[in-house]
Amino acid sequence: MPTVLVVDDSEDNARLLEYDLNDDGFDVLIALSGDECITTAAARRPDLILLDMRMPGLSGLETLEKLKDFAETADIPVIIISASNSDDNIIKALDLGASDYVNKPVVYPILAARMRTALRVKQATLELEVVNQELRRLATTDPLTRLANRRHFFSLAHAEFAKAQRHKRPLSIIMMDVDEFKRINDTHGHAAGDRALDILADCCREAVRESDLVGRIGGEEFAICCPDADLNGATAIAERIRITCEKQTIRYAQLQFNFTVSLGVTTLNHRDECFEDMLNRADQLLYEAKSKGRNRAIAC
Ligand code: GH3
Ligand code: MG
Ligand code: MG
Repeated sequence: MPTVLVVDDSEDNARLLEYDLNDDGFDVLIALSGDECITTAAARRPDLILLDMRMPGLSGLETLEKLKDFAETADIPVIIISASNSDDNIIKALDLGASDYVNKPVVYPILAARMRTALRVKQATLELEVVNQELRRLATTDPLTRLANRRHFFSLAHAEFAKAQRHKRPLSIIMMDVDEFKRINDTHGHAAGDRALDILADCCREAVRESDLVGRIGGEEFAICCPDADLNGATAIAERIRITCEKQTIRYAQLQFNFTVSLGVTTLNHRDECFEDMLNRADQLLYEAKSKGRNRAIAC
């Protein structure tokens, strides 16, 4: 059952409302001042607040402003209960984020209908937030490896590039490609190849720092953006990944196989005008690693 916090400096008024609300199936909390309302709302997180406009001490408006200021209480719908219909404060209250208002003396069925509306809007907003979060995850994540997808990686890496240039901070980038992956697919099957990519992603996650960004930018191509890492730091990460991959045994169905990766590592220099300048350099170094025999990291 939804919990309603009734805020009124008159305990008689509050009890009267409590009676109707209980009858209607709501759980009721009572606060007899604005201060008490704020503490109770933060501690108990009611589903809805019925807030008296005129109260000694903190007024209804001041209480509302504080409720909307605190992250813990900002999302709780507030219905203002006002003694006057022409009160300018009603407009202020709605502008401050109140969901609705009703006049005193309260006609309970009307209040109840407005409460249902406020609760419905709250519920719909919550559901929308969940859907939005999921959409954001789907739009930014590669489903196989759960790493940043190409678009998301580039968007975050561009921001890191701008930040590093502005603050004259180091920034390094690693490009990585699975060696002879076509042969792995051809020999063991596509699903086994997928398993290798998934495990490679785990190896990357374990090798990097929290602030590093790993992205799957192509089929079996990955990039890592390392803010505040110089060439030595990034090379150490690349080596760590290379060795961890080399040691991995992939088990899929009855199969067992190994794989290796090649990597190109580079760091921001004063000639780099955009992130792609760095990325192209890392890409060239990656192909140098391939041509020199694979399973190696080349840094420059
Ligand atoms: P190299 O060492 O030169 O990188 O050789 P390679 O075989 O890895 O390179 P190539 O570009 O010839 O082949 C890449 C292969 O990666 C071909 C493609 O089918 C495979 N691939 C791309 N995306 C996926 C995927 O999501 N899953 C699987 N299993 N294979 C993929
Ligand atoms: Mg490859
Ligand atoms: Mg490739």
